[in-house]
Amino acid sequence: MGAQTGTILTPNRRAFKVPPDRSTIITIDGPAGTGKSSVARELARRIGLDFLDTGAMYRAAAAIVLDEHLDPSDIEAVVARVASADLHFDWTTDPPTMLAWDRPIDHRLREADVTAIVSPIAGIGRLREHLVRKQRIIAAQHPRLVSEGRDQGSVVFPDADAKFYLDADPRVRALRRAEQLRADGRGADEAALLAEIIERDRSDSTRHDGPLICPEDAVVIDTSLLTRDQVVERLEGEVRARIEV
Ligand code: C5P
Repeated sequence: MGAQTGTILTPNRRAFKVPPDRSTIITIDGPAGTGKSSVARELARRIGLDFLDTGAMYRAAAAIVLDEHLDPSDIEAVVARVASADLHFDWTTDPPTMLAWDRPIDHRLREADVTAIVSPIAGIGRLREHLVRKQRIIAAQHPRLVSEGRDQGSVVFPDADAKFYLDADPRVRALRRAEQLRADGRGADEAALLAEIIERDRSDSTRHDGPLICPEDAVVIDTSLLTRDQVVERLEGEVRARIEV
């Protein structure tokens, strides 16, 4: 964390490249609003790997808590209900659709009430264990994968062949979120978005289980002054140096 604007830190690369017939995982972690999802999706498309949005799984869990009127402090009930939903993706759509009880739940994931409680819900250790297990199963079923989240390189896939950590100035991240919302025809209060981003960073970084941290062996990219395409190009260059795609 804490990369200065425009800085790219590149740890040592391995002496050999991952051959095209071997399973491989690329992880992309970082705080909210750094453009991780769209960058990860585009990188996966360019190099022909599958793409896993792990934030969607935590958002789906938060949506279930709200829509089923669960008490977030009742951990037993939250974990049991989320487990009963059997969260999984329909990989026949692009991007893959998040399903709960076999029904699409995507329409709920980006709504303000879900965003407001997702970080504390994601702080429930037993829920994380459940979702981390699912993420590893997904990786076994999709052996060439770009996985994006907060703890993918640090906890879930520590042996990933390429790890990235994207960061950006919180004000830039708030502005990007506001532009996204306006493009979707929704209202956006930049000051409120900035406060929400700062609070989510704090909550995600300080939790006990799976906190947001920068893995030591990650390539760190500050995206504050970069376009999405510039970020994707840098990632693609790093990936092609390590993995035969
Ligand atoms: O990336 P996105 O903003 O969709 O993530 C929503 C929330 O889900 C994050 O703020 C974080 O609390 C949680 N999350 C997590 N671990 C992940 C992915 C997301 O805790 N691997």
